[in-house]
Amino acid sequence: YREKLHAAAEALENFSGPIYVVTHVDPDGDAVGSSLGLALALEAMGKEVFWICQPPRYLQFLAGDYRNSPPISQVPEGALLVVLDAAEPSRVEGAPVEGYVINIDHHGTNPRFGDISVVDPSKAATAQIVKDLVDALGVAWTPAIATPVLAGMITDTGNFAFANTTPELLRTAADLIAQGVAYAELTDRLKWRPPGYFQLMGKVLSTVEFHFGGLLVTAHLPPGLQGENGAEEDSDDFVGTIRYAEGSLVAVFLRERGPDTKLSIRSRGRVSAQNIAVKLGGGGHVPAAGATLRGMGLSDAYGRLLPVVEEELKRAGYL
Ligand code: 5GP
Ligand code: MN
Ligand code: MN
Repeated sequence: YREKLHAAAEALENFSGPIYVVTHVDPDGDAVGSSLGLALALEAMGKEVFWICQPPRYLQFLAGDYRNSPPISQVPEGALLVVLDAAEPSRVEGAPVEGYVINIDHHGTNPRFGDISVVDPSKAATAQIVKDLVDALGVAWTPAIATPVLAGMITDTGNFAFANTTPELLRTAADLIAQGVAYAELTDRLKWRPPGYFQLMGKVLSTVEFHFGGLLVTAHLPPGLQGENGAEEDSDDFVGTIRYAEGSLVAVFLRERGPDTKLSIRSRGRVSAQNIAVKLGGGGHVPAAGATLRGMGLSDAYGRLLPVVEEELKRAGYL
């Protein structure tokens, strides 16, 4: 890890052309925070930086007045592409993965693409790797750089609550808070949602169902709401609510997107959300993973999902 990290730092330090910083589709707090933090740090080094990321509404405050760049269909000759928090090249949004590529990520399923790949599944967040990278680059921490990086750690650990919250992660986060980040304000702001979100939550919660004697809990975005202003992106964390159904070992939230259905999967105990996601053509981490079922509406998606969850519950010895 140290060796790769320093190779990435050296490549960035020695590079004088344009640097494109990109992340995954449907960027979450870690995607936005890690890419924004690195972009700001590179900018502080005097680099020419293009941050290609369209944060969802609830994360737009992180960027403040820092401008994001429009997507590109081709990486210019001689440019460098830094890809953050993307489990695979196909998840990257805004730029094709080509040219000289530095891949910075913490997904175990990452195929280690790119010319330099700094992939460490023991890290709770890609932002944790960015913290080390910015240190390696020797950039002075400011609250402006530290805030998005800390936001990435906060969101990927569920406010420092999930099993990926290691002593090392907490020390790293403490270092960032010591740089003058308004911590309580940040955690508060990260939870803000528009008024419509709370009405939407009511509709989503009315779709909750239990399967396999309660071991699986599911919910979905009611079909009529697909395409309604903001409903899809406001649905990002509903899986984070239903996962606390007592007695459940798997939680899945389904939402239709065009002709496809996207699944957010969470698990506990010996059950692996990652196993379920991989069987459905997706990926992620053991306790938190996702997949997109192409060409399937909600009922087909449920039909595809249930046997795969059943198989995983059996494998883990719960059925
Ligand atoms: P979420 O449910 O929050 O969208 O995603 C949970 C985790 O699974 C994240 O780490 C995310 O990167 C990963 N993930 C979600 N959807 C996909 C997918 O379609 N393919 C892959 N490889 N990973 C995914
Ligand atoms: Mn992410
Ligand atoms: Mn992440």
